[in-house]
Amino acid sequence: MADEQISLFSLDDVAMPTDQAPSPPTGSTDYAAIPISSATAISPGTYASLEDLATHCHACQRCGLAPTRTNVVVSRGSATAPVFIIGEGPGQQEDEQGKPFVGRSGQLLEQILASVRLDSERDLYIGNIVKCRPPGNRVPTPDEVVACKGYLLEQIRLVDPKIILLTGATAVRGILGIKDGITKIRGQWFEWEGRLCMPIFHPAYLLRNPSREKGSPKWLMWQDIQAVKAKLEELIPRD
Ligand code: SF4
Repeated sequence: MADEQISLFSLDDVAMPTDQAPSPPTGSTDYAAIPISSATAISPGTYASLEDLATHCHACQRCGLAPTRTNVVVSRGSATAPVFIIGEGPGQQEDEQGKPFVGRSGQLLEQILASVRLDSERDLYIGNIVKCRPPGNRVPTPDEVVACKGYLLEQIRLVDPKIILLTGATAVRGILGIKDGITKIRGQWFEWEGRLCMPIFHPAYLLRNPSREKGSPKWLMWQDIQAVKAKLEELIPRD
């Protein structure tokens, strides 16, 4: 176990997942009925499929982040994943590549997941609170979060995960409405809409805090991801 913990902190030899370009719409989504104005919420059940949702996201102009984005960053991972990871929003590399959690943060996330034998392409679905990059990587405004939230709630409904991991304070606030600092509430289970949610540190925060000592953010992340794996095995026993 100690070796695995050490490997959690190394970024060497991490294989990045392959791209998943959105497919053409396949469901029966009524695009004409989808509200374009951010003043109108996206109703639960709007989208017939994740592909239909992605198609609409890629054309979205619901908030002020649209004009400065390069790509709309919708998701990566499995559409039937038992674990849904939610981050804050795309950074520069995510904006350029159109995928969430790439670059060094994404590599560290892959390593954290691999340390408990979770595969991001099989076991995880990964998205963000907002799908377009806030300029300068600033925190999304409340209006931007509200404008984009309907898409995220639809993604959660369609993927139907057992567990949601909230990486960082913006994700916690956006889903649970809790304003406590992430250090205070990380590693705790919360029930939300019939699902289990756990706040965890954002990988970018772990990169800025390299200590591996007991009680450090990386050590705490190791405890949290083991708790997530144990809960998953409890909820979905494998033969
Ligand atoms: S952040 Fe969300 S609501 Fe705003 S333009 Fe992008 S996809 Fe639309």
